[in-house]
Amino acid sequence: MHRPNVAALVRRDRDGVLYTTSAQLEREDLAAGFATRVGGVSGGCWQGLNFSFSSGDDEQCVRENYARFCRALGAPQQGLIRAWQVHSDNIVVVTDRAQCLGPSPQTPPDRADILMTNLPGVALTTFYADCVPVLLFDPVHRAVANVHAGWRGASIRNARTAVAKMSELYRTDPADLLAAVGPAVCAGCYEVGEEVCEAFEETFEPGERELIFSHVDGRPHVDLKLANVLTLLAAGLCEQNIAASTDCTAHMSQLYFSHRRMGERRGNQIALICLREEGEAK
Ligand SMILES: [Zn+2]
Repeated sequence: MHRPNVAALVRRDRDGVLYTTSAQLEREDLAAGFATRVGGVSGGCWQGLNFSFSSGDDEQCVRENYARFCRALGAPQQGLIRAWQVHSDNIVVVTDRAQCLGPSPQTPPDRADILMTNLPGVALTTFYADCVPVLLFDPVHRAVANVHAGWRGASIRNARTAVAKMSELYRTDPADLLAAVGPAVCAGCYEVGEEVCEAFEETFEPGERELIFSHVDGRPHVDLKLANVLTLLAAGLCEQNIAASTDCTAHMSQLYFSHRRMGERRGNQIALICLREEGEAK
């Protein structure tokens, strides 16, 4: 099996808000991107663009961070929706804008790690601080998904579950899908234990495992971004339609919050994708 050759993400700065995205997802009819810490108003261990209401940060700061990021991406704040992330392949399908809570400290009702919709104006969000966010866009049937895929999600191949559900609901052909795999912990920074190795042994082919696992001083490391890229390919996506971040949330401390590096005293990054209303100017 060959190592997939996918494009890197591009970095953008809008009024001081720094984010990354796939060049293929930079379109008039879409808002899509992955935040960095740069451009927010939070202080202390949440310094910068923190999107977590539940880690002790000041609520007004988090609200301002949402306002700045949504303005930078051209996404409607009132359309924001998130799930209670539980490292699963549970799916929330957004069929009514009334499901959207906006930027709210309220606990979301659904425990899920995959969100999808074909409604314009709904801004699907996932949160991470080393885990992998995956954005999916079907330009033919105009539908989007946002997947939270850390080691558990990646090992159960939840990005493939998302693709299959889009095919079922929106008649998506995986070959049409455009995907962006966001910033996450790199293989060098991600030493793992037996539990993680065993989980991937159950679901990944030997050729795939050869690519995603490496050993440093005899200890296993895993490349979670590559694991998600391989899952997207296995789901039928084309290599040229996938872009992946080369950034590491753990060792690029000026740009990212990291669970590995910072533990619980930290903020969260956000990944967002939203179909724009027709005729809506960015
Ligand atoms: Zn790293």
